[in-house]
Amino acid sequence: RPFVFTIGEMLVEIMRPEVDVPLRRTGAFVGPYPSGAPAIFIDAIAKLGIGAGIVGCVGDDDFGLCVRERLSSDGVDVSQVRVCKDKTTAVAFVNYFASGDREFLFHVADAAAGQIRADQLKREWLHAETVLHLNGSSIAINEAVRQICYEAARLVKECGGTITLDPNVRPELFTRGEMERLYGPLLSYCDYVIPSRGEAEWMTSSETLDDAAAQLFELGVKAVVCKRGADGCVLYTPDFRLESSAFDVQVVDPTGAGDCFSAGLVYGLLRKWEWPTILTFANAMGALATCKQGPMEGTLSLSEVVEFIKKHGVELA
Ligand code: ADP
Repeated sequence: RPFVFTIGEMLVEIMRPEVDVPLRRTGAFVGPYPSGAPAIFIDAIAKLGIGAGIVGCVGDDDFGLCVRERLSSDGVDVSQVRVCKDKTTAVAFVNYFASGDREFLFHVADAAAGQIRADQLKREWLHAETVLHLNGSSIAINEAVRQICYEAARLVKECGGTITLDPNVRPELFTRGEMERLYGPLLSYCDYVIPSRGEAEWMTSSETLDDAAAQLFELGVKAVVCKRGADGCVLYTPDFRLESSAFDVQVVDPTGAGDCFSAGLVYGLLRKWEWPTILTFANAMGALATCKQGPMEGTLSLSEVVEFIKKHGVELA
């Protein structure tokens, strides 16, 4: 049976309920909302009805319970989530500007999220039908977590499994040279790369997405699917290029759209759908994620996603 797992930060998000209140100002916050890119992704996978698990670490506190209980009740296997006694659960504070920009304050690297250990990788999770989805935010946590991600990717490939990567490039944390060092060991294991605008070019020091995709294909990547916000997405394979337009929605909160998009893509790959169907489904997952306030509140069941696609008059071939 297919099984999807991920490794990385589980955190809570505490957000400004109103726009344009900078984090340095006194004011109201709402939350905690369960969050963390890997956590949002795997929650979306479980809600689609696929076997799902996460390797993570939380503190022995209520924020840890908040994210662990949500994932567990949505069907994610949290048996490999370690509860760390001497660190607190990671937190992200966020303010939304009316312009659509976001301002984040992360407490992750020094929190429990940075305490993931290699012995948390579960042997039973490693087989030919396993998909390991990695996120740039996970390899950015610290050196130890990074090494665990590399090792997990190696083990999954050894078993004949599949690796997907959302680069989630963080230029504010690393220089270009450092980024190349971080992604380098991973790229040759990747089957599918799911960058946001500009990220594929960034990772490969290329001027254009065409050149970036060509470089990734040389490393063995089978396809590159670039997320383009309200413009949908574009697929590159060694043989063809295909665009897929976005669904028309009223955006409430864009956080988590990319992670839900990736979940939709992985779902379609597991169902062995044709590319146009996969891209439509992934776009629907991304669009739906933007319609709800809160990072993980926009994950939906398979029937709800299918209903949304039908309602928009799009054929899911
Ligand atoms: P990320 O969150 O990783 O930066 P994007 O903002 O490109 O990625 O969003 C991921 C996907 O979610 C897009 O490719 C698209 O399918 C969907 N999406 C995002 N924003 C919108 C929007 N405003 N309208 C419709 N779909 C959207």
